[in-house]
Amino acid sequence: MVRPRNFSAGPAQMPEDVLRSAQAEFMDFAGTGMSVLEMSHRSDAYRRVIDAAEASLRAVLGIPDSYGVLFLQGGATLEFAGIPMNLMRRGRAGHIVSGHFAKVAAEEAAKYGSAEILATSEPTGFDRIPDLPSPEAFAGMDYGYICQNNTIYGTMFHELPDCGGTPLVADVSSCFLSFPLDVTDYGLLFAGAQKNAGPSGVCVLVVDRSLVEGGPALGVCPTYLDYSTQLAKGSMLNTPNTFGIYLCGKVFDWVRGTGGLEAMGARNAEKAALLYGAIDRSDLYRGCAVPSSRSVANVTFRLPTPELEREFVDRAAEGGLVGLAGHRLVGGIRASIYNAVGIDAVRDLVAFMESFELSVTGRSF
Ligand SMILES: *Cc1c(COP(=O)(O)O)cnc(C)c1O
Repeated sequence: MVRPRNFSAGPAQMPEDVLRSAQAEFMDFAGTGMSVLEMSHRSDAYRRVIDAAEASLRAVLGIPDSYGVLFLQGGATLEFAGIPMNLMRRGRAGHIVSGHFAKVAAEEAAKYGSAEILATSEPTGFDRIPDLPSPEAFAGMDYGYICQNNTIYGTMFHELPDCGGTPLVADVSSCFLSFPLDVTDYGLLFAGAQKNAGPSGVCVLVVDRSLVEGGPALGVCPTYLDYSTQLAKGSMLNTPNTFGIYLCGKVFDWVRGTGGLEAMGARNAEKAALLYGAIDRSDLYRGCAVPSSRSVANVTFRLPTPELEREFVDRAAEGGLVGLAGHRLVGGIRASIYNAVGIDAVRDLVAFMESFELSVTGRSF
């Protein structure tokens, strides 16, 4: 069976090795005679699965012991509420609004305290990362908040804001494990797994333990979202997404086995350069993001008309290149070139873009 070239923004392509490995173990996991789907989350066999997943993530990211790791349900979206409820001890957060998920997170946080917008690129249609606020702007805040890669608009922070000692909270859903990062630059980072880390239904959260010691900031915080309790319970306050965490562990192992984050970052940079190079050479395709803010993970571009964009998406799909329609909020084209999307897929996409341009304009690039 030929698998399609899958450029979906999420749930996204998984590494084929991960799928095959899970398939091989599906009916009988590690000699238990059971599927991982069927075993108690309190069993020794499952304990080993979740412990190994955490250990693998710690190895990949170099997470120090002073940071806890959680595997939660509710996606990245639930943490838009969980973060203020846990961290807003003074009732103030400084948000940088660089796209849809950043805006939604600020709106959610505003239910629990003062979510102050320190910078926004909404006036230019989220085509860039806004100019970063000065460190002083974060004074007196519980945390600064960013969405590090803007999945819908195709922009990314290439440098983190200096929060002047105030902890930085980052939604890294669509750039998680895409390149090396220093966990200690963050107070908390979190990622919905379905972009780069596994299946939907798992949110990976890494938090500086000192920020959540003594319980959540707000008494109304649901016990499920109380990070200190979840840390004490090893993400097992209730039944976790057992199979999802198992698959995340396999993805973490795959990242390690393919050279870790340095190698992943180099491959992703090469993939992105190929695609942006094609956009920049072309007369037909226009990149959406200003070049200095371009994402390595989600490449967004437009054609002259929505009709041509539809034709592009349809003809690409006929050729086995799927998942290229832009987000429904913005339209256009979006190629998500996450970790599991190989360079060959990107080469095929560029070749298709050249042939499509030739067929429309009579010129190639
Ligand atoms: C996909 C995405 C989300 C939403 O994730 P869910 O798991 O669906 O809640 C939030 N933030 C970013 C940056 C995303 O890419």
